[in-house]
Amino acid sequence: MTQARKPLIAGNWKMNGSGAMAEAEARALAARVAAERPAAELALCPPATLLARLAGWLAGSGISVGGQDCHAKASGAHTGDIAAEMLWEAGALYVIVGHSERRADHGESDATVRAKAAAGHRAGLISIVCIGETLAQRDAGETLKVVAGQLRGSLPDTATATNSVIAYEPVWAIGTGRTPTLEQVAEVHALIRQELRARFDDGAGFRILYGGSVKPDNAKALMAVAEVDGALVGGASLKAADFWPIVAAKG
Ligand code: PEP
Repeated sequence: MTQARKPLIAGNWKMNGSGAMAEAEARALAARVAAERPAAELALCPPATLLARLAGWLAGSGISVGGQDCHAKASGAHTGDIAAEMLWEAGALYVIVGHSERRADHGESDATVRAKAAAGHRAGLISIVCIGETLAQRDAGETLKVVAGQLRGSLPDTATATNSVIAYEPVWAIGTGRTPTLEQVAEVHALIRQELRARFDDGAGFRILYGGSVKPDNAKALMAVAEVDGALVGGASLKAADFWPIVAAKG
């Protein structure tokens, strides 16, 4: 029998935050977790410069930290890049790979994302692999084809339900305040589950997150959709007051 999937609510701070903000948010969230013991697991993915300090402030809270990207190699002449092993050493448990902003801003292909996800596995991290269609692809009726293709191309053979999480993030919903309908979310999550089951023995156990303008006022409905095992949250993860209702929405 498949083990129940523990929901995950992960915050992606992108290129936002300062030491003072991170400490305040960490302490506020840790206090909420201690007081309310949510069903969902929490993770925060700050800019790399804050990762080690955030991990320290959150130590013992049950809240994990993660990187927003990693290089595929463990070391070498790659100025400005960070190896998955370095994230692990700084205290990370997770690493986001293939976020649409990385794919767009840095031209990352599925093959690049796959190598980065495998690097996360090599380092002992849990890779959060992001996939999702653009608005033009949705309007052209290509969503399912695009998402299935990205999933196949971006997820390495080293993936298991324990070391990988999938984040379905329609590009047009990220940071825009727009979200797909609940039916559209259900349709894509069902496809992802079907693909995972077909490829991996433990495909039923992978957590599949929804991401894209998740806010306190829409979280409950989105988190109740079948096969939605949590959320990857951008803007609303920057303040504990906004993030907490999303955490609470998943039980
Ligand atoms: C994201 O960047 O992963 C994201 C989902 O952003 P937002 O919640 O701000 O749309």
